[in-house]
Amino acid sequence: MADRKLHPRTRSVHHGIRRSQYGEMAEALFLTQGFAYDTAEQAEARFQKVGSDEFIYARYGNPTSRMFEDRMASLEGTEDAFATASGMAAVNGALMSMVAPGDRVVASRQLFGSCLYVLDVLKKFGVDVVLVDGTDLDQWRTAVTPGTKACFFETVSNPTLEVMDITGIAGIAHAAGALVVADNVFATPVFSRAVEQGADVVVYSTTKHVDGGGRALGGVICGTRDFVRNVAEPYLKHTGGAISPFNAWIMLNGLTTMDLRVRAMADSALAVAQALQGAGLPVIYPGLPSHPQHQLAMRQMGSGGTMVAFDLGSQEAAFAMLNRLELVSISNNLGDAKSIATHPATTTHQRLSEADRATLGIGPGLVRLSVGLEHEDDLIADLLGALA
Ligand SMILES: *Cc1c(COP(=O)(O)O)cnc(C)c1O
Repeated sequence: MADRKLHPRTRSVHHGIRRSQYGEMAEALFLTQGFAYDTAEQAEARFQKVGSDEFIYARYGNPTSRMFEDRMASLEGTEDAFATASGMAAVNGALMSMVAPGDRVVASRQLFGSCLYVLDVLKKFGVDVVLVDGTDLDQWRTAVTPGTKACFFETVSNPTLEVMDITGIAGIAHAAGALVVADNVFATPVFSRAVEQGADVVVYSTTKHVDGGGRALGGVICGTRDFVRNVAEPYLKHTGGAISPFNAWIMLNGLTTMDLRVRAMADSALAVAQALQGAGLPVIYPGLPSHPQHQLAMRQMGSGGTMVAFDLGSQEAAFAMLNRLELVSISNNLGDAKSIATHPATTTHQRLSEADRATLGIGPGLVRLSVGLEHEDDLIADLLGALA
């Protein structure tokens, strides 16, 4: 209980550590898929009741993975967490494990392409999926019927940075008995208070800000112990979605510096957004007063985050600018220490039709920028230079 009073930055350095008999300071990498038993009886007992400290196979759990899960649960303020092979394994695991044919899932249509794909898979198995404009509470109210199983959305949408009202959506969901499942990647675990604001299940791609160096894939599902261990875990452990212990070890190390990194990146993102707006560009950044959900973003996250988007009007103009960048890389990850520029229409969202992209505000001139850890003056000089 005393631990709960520690600041998140302290928890992200200390929590979840399990030391072996050697008393090692750093988080140990238990690169083992199996665990030996003293006797056949012990093996039998372990299989009958897998307690939280009793490991039997890395697809079910591993000490390094469990350190990462415990640290994420502590940060997020949930009872438990299950770490997955990627962010998409977390989204798929959270949703697929909780639904049955005939259930309704209401989701924001402002979603990352792979999240939309998972919803299509649910439809194929008889789940009634209804898409709404996630920023319009009236649409949620109409779509969420009694017996709706889940409401799913990205708290800040990829790539157009629309901000969803977690408390508002949770009120509607909970009145109908539905669970709120929030993909919180763009909000980051640093600025998020999604559970406090009403989310029941929070999923992350830890590939992004948690790793922070663009090295490894990972994901996590945070929620109540009952949901994590009795709903999500059985599905994930039998279908092979668990994180590799090596990747969990990378994520643990990422967490120790995440708070500092993400705050520095968000400070630079605000400076970059202001500079681009000052240069006359239509800039989308939740930290700017011109953003339609600026007040909500500040209330929910206290920051505009690390992502900035801007529209150059045409693909030709966007490509010309991207090709002139010297410091910022053209790539499609985000949350990396290195700043990254992405052209969503031709890469991350190319699977969608032009009409669907237009509905989501992903025009041919849209550029998404993940602001990294470089000095903000160097980033602004590179971006303005590429625009000239
Ligand atoms: C990247 C991302 C995912 C998927 O994560 P992976 O680790 O690449 O599987 C899901 N949701 C959002 C919002 C993302 O940005």
